[in-house]
Amino acid sequence: MKNACARLSLFLALIAAILAFSAPLPVAYALPPAPAPAPAGIDTPGFYRLLVGDFEVVALFDGHSRLSQQLLKGINAKDAQALLQRAFHSADRPLLTSVNAYLVHTGQNLVLVDTGAAACFGPTLGNVQNNLKAAGYKPEDVDTILLTHMHPDHVCGLTDQEGKEVFPEATVWVARDEAAYWLSEEIAAKTPEETQAMFRFARDAVAPYAANGRFKTFVPGEVLLSGIATAPSNGHTPGHSGYFFASQGQSLLIWGDIAHNQAIQFARPEVAIEFDADQKQAIAARKQIFADAARKRLLIAGAHLPFPGIGHIVAEKNGYRWVPVEFGQNFPDREAGTKTGR
Ligand SMILES: [Zn+2]
Repeated sequence: MKNACARLSLFLALIAAILAFSAPLPVAYALPPAPAPAPAGIDTPGFYRLLVGDFEVVALFDGHSRLSQQLLKGINAKDAQALLQRAFHSADRPLLTSVNAYLVHTGQNLVLVDTGAAACFGPTLGNVQNNLKAAGYKPEDVDTILLTHMHPDHVCGLTDQEGKEVFPEATVWVARDEAAYWLSEEIAAKTPEETQAMFRFARDAVAPYAANGRFKTFVPGEVLLSGIATAPSNGHTPGHSGYFFASQGQSLLIWGDIAHNQAIQFARPEVAIEFDADQKQAIAARKQIFADAARKRLLIAGAHLPFPGIGHIVAEKNGYRWVPVEFGQNFPDREAGTKTGR
């Protein structure tokens, strides 16, 4: 103890000596620091690029919306809150839901899968066109548009505020059953007043393309372009379809609205959402795709998964887990000194 005290007083004496002999602090050091620049703002370009074989895939962020937790069907509030908290989501706010579209350059075609909500769902959405430009393309470069289904957050980006086509060179494709449902005035007339707007949005979005002979439908399983196959997954809507892109032994399934909330629906695939036209069929489609994707280790892109919405699915003891891609993943390593980060 005596020894320890002696060591401590020696140490303190040493510090005092060092301080006494140190040069005084430079004058500038004492001045207040220069003010920091103003914050640069939140307009981050929302695109993410990766390669699938020879195909360049660009995720385009349309924006986000907040969905009421009450829209989830087949889970009680306590379980939903526990899953949200586990994923660090605020359990007492509406569900944060990303809206994504995907651009694929196949070498021959520039294909856009879905077009975002434009102005149909408020100011937090409607950025697909700007992000497409930020990614280095122009709307007139797009020659093919594949719609997963005809809900407003997927079709409204086809037209501008005046109802004119945004993609003047593109042919728009959708499953035959999807078009038959949403473009039918007869079916629309039989639905409740509040859902009739959905039919109107769908009709208005494709009208200018149809008028120019550039709106077409396909039957399930049809191959539309080299390297692209349709993947029917009815339930969310009558002709809901994913698209399977394959190049050089690699592949990507862009699946539309198979999941609306990753925190809840991967753990509990039996949870449906109010918007599912046929909830039983939508649950069956989700379970089948999750099982398939996990077994085959498929790369997935989802319209409502957290941006960029690209990743893999892992089967767990109960349910599944979403594993998002990392920035830079799937891009070839470049030689030192060449352009990076594109
Ligand atoms: Zn959607």
